[in-house]
Amino acid sequence: MIIVVSPEATPEEIGHIVARIEETGRQAHLSEGTERRIIGVIGPDAPELQDMFESMAHVESVHRVTKPYKLVSREFRGGPSVIDIGRGVTVGGNELAVMAGPCSIEDEDHIVNTAIAVKAAGANILRGGAFKPRSSPYAFRGLGEEALRHLATARKVTGLPVITELMSIRDIDAVAEYADVIQIGARNMQNFILLDEVGKQRKPVMLKRGMSGQIEEWLLAAEYILAQGNPNVILCERGIRTFETAYRNTFDINAIPLVKELSHLPIIADPSHGTGKHQLVAPIAMAAVAAGADGLMIEVHPSPDHALSDGAQSLTHESFAGMMRSVAGIASAVGRSLSGVEASAAAR
Ligand code: PEP
Ligand code: MN
Repeated sequence: MIIVVSPEATPEEIGHIVARIEETGRQAHLSEGTERRIIGVIGPDAPELQDMFESMAHVESVHRVTKPYKLVSREFRGGPSVIDIGRGVTVGGNELAVMAGPCSIEDEDHIVNTAIAVKAAGANILRGGAFKPRSSPYAFRGLGEEALRHLATARKVTGLPVITELMSIRDIDAVAEYADVIQIGARNMQNFILLDEVGKQRKPVMLKRGMSGQIEEWLLAAEYILAQGNPNVILCERGIRTFETAYRNTFDINAIPLVKELSHLPIIADPSHGTGKHQLVAPIAMAAVAAGADGLMIEVHPSPDHALSDGAQSLTHESFAGMMRSVAGIASAVGRSLSGVEASAAAR
């Protein structure tokens, strides 16, 4: 249930409403938007409570949310959330967020040089994997904490905020210390204990869709994080597994406008993992922005042939810069901006 509180209510008056919610054995989640103040009532639905809350002072209206997820539902905020990730960067506003960098951090020069290149091309967030989920235990699994230190160096050199994946609770303190955004990868979308833990801290979290995650399962996974008190969640569509084997995953473009309709959380598109093929990355990036994505996650490597992971889907520094110019054209056509990038027609 969602309670819309009158804009004039004082903190004390809101406190009364919260206390009444808690007396019923339910939890109250206060959300202070720019236009509305809302209290989410979490617990079993009971129609009689609607009348009771409606009769309370300073309550403007009460709405029952029939969806299984509550705090992530669009109704809960009535408009899109903008997540502040620090260093002057937000996700979910008019400006697109572009997270770019290598799949995995290979050494300090590698991440610093890539950071300089992606920043010059217009990226505003640096990505890089330190703890890598790999299908084979014999594949390169990342440099771990050493990579986190290299990422911090790249942030210092460029000023770009950084995102990196957390795979296990074991590493949460180290990752939270270095990252501006914590990534939860596709393979951990339903690792509920991990979701609880990132919900208990306040760093923004980007939750990738599981490779066979349904939209409702994905939104319920995000609900775990919000239910623990962390409202700073960004979703990321990264392709799903289908019968098609011509590419690594099938990028589910439908998810973007649907998630926007169902949830207030911002959504990022990852056409690198969504396709697995470098030549498909730019067209799918453009399609995702046209469909309403709030930003992109793109894998970039100075020499994709030599990448220790995901070379086949990585863009070179030059092709990333070209993609950004093509995306800028689409962004302006749909009323979004990509500052510092001059638009050009897509290469054919
Ligand atoms: C990644 O971003 O490098 C990654 C492993 O992504 P996903 O979890 O989507 O496979
Ligand atoms: Mn990767």
